[in-house]
Amino acid sequence: MSQIDYDLVIIGAGPAGMTAALYAGRARLSVLVLEKAAPGGQILVTDWIENYPGFPEGISGPDLIALMQAQVKRFGVDIHTGEVVSMDLTGEVKRLDLPDKTITSKTVIIATGASPRKLGVPGENRYFGRGVSTCATCDAPFFKDAVVVAVGGGDTAVQEGIFLTRFAKKVYLVHRRNQLRAVKVLQERAEQNEKIEVLWDSMVTEIKGGAEGVKAVALRNVISGLETEIPAEGCFIWVGTVPNTLFAIGHVAMDDNGFIITDNRTQTNVPGVFAIGDVRNTPLRQVATAVGDGAIAANEAMLYLE
Ligand code: NAP
Repeated sequence: MSQIDYDLVIIGAGPAGMTAALYAGRARLSVLVLEKAAPGGQILVTDWIENYPGFPEGISGPDLIALMQAQVKRFGVDIHTGEVVSMDLTGEVKRLDLPDKTITSKTVIIATGASPRKLGVPGENRYFGRGVSTCATCDAPFFKDAVVVAVGGGDTAVQEGIFLTRFAKKVYLVHRRNQLRAVKVLQERAEQNEKIEVLWDSMVTEIKGGAEGVKAVALRNVISGLETEIPAEGCFIWVGTVPNTLFAIGHVAMDDNGFIITDNRTQTNVPGVFAIGDVRNTPLRQVATAVGDGAIAANEAMLYLE
């Protein structure tokens, strides 16, 4: 048999993938990390992380991932840009096809994370990048003294909605129920923020605009059925995430929502293939849980190789 390229290939360079790389690199495995775009995943668009231990004042997402990357590189791990377009994970030698080459590995860790879910309403795609956004860190400064709508009631919507108030003069937080899902500390901050007004029991039905971009967001109250329209220049959508698993359909078992099913050792249904972080069917999606998964998976890969 020809030479196998790596002991371990990690697909995805967010906190989960980086931690797996750190542990595997220190164990002197030959490791490749593949990342479709820039290393970091979702925390690249997270302005401030204050529940990852070790940073008493918090740390920005981009700064945290840059530190993780520097730490991984100390242990000789390769980080390459490349997207897996097809693969064969069934045998002892795993084959991963990139657009320009094929890589073989003895084990694979899938750490491809999740992406923002879409609302699926008229105007969302049309005005994306022209007032519609899923990234406050990237786009909030464009909305200085503007009125904006933020959609969702989870940690992301509330935290990023608060961040928006640094720029916008008014943030309408549109939530489909009468209670936020976000953690209490964020709820309290939102309540205390005079620029935030929560519009309860409300769904966005359309994002309207013109040549310059978004002009208004149409809402329907799910209790009364009342239809309203809020003049706004921006609409930020934070209604949860969908797993980045399209490339893995048919290769590993997934739940009904497309999250990869693992046991508590991050093992998928395919021997030698592990899944970690937001992409797996985990009860909690945090940086802290992602790095824990990464450590477990690297250790499991080592045991498998032995
Ligand atoms: P999430 O917790 O799944 O919340 C999604 C929110 O969007 C929910 O309030 C949900 O409403 C609403 N929603 C879902 N589909 C909708 C639709 N079609 N139309 C209108 N509203 C819709 O997602 P997330 O806030 O992005 O958070 C994802 C994960 O990252 C979570 O585990 C979260 O804890 C974590 N996170 C943590 C932090 C932090 O710790 N500071 C920051 C950001 C994210 P319902 O409430 O009615 O279901």
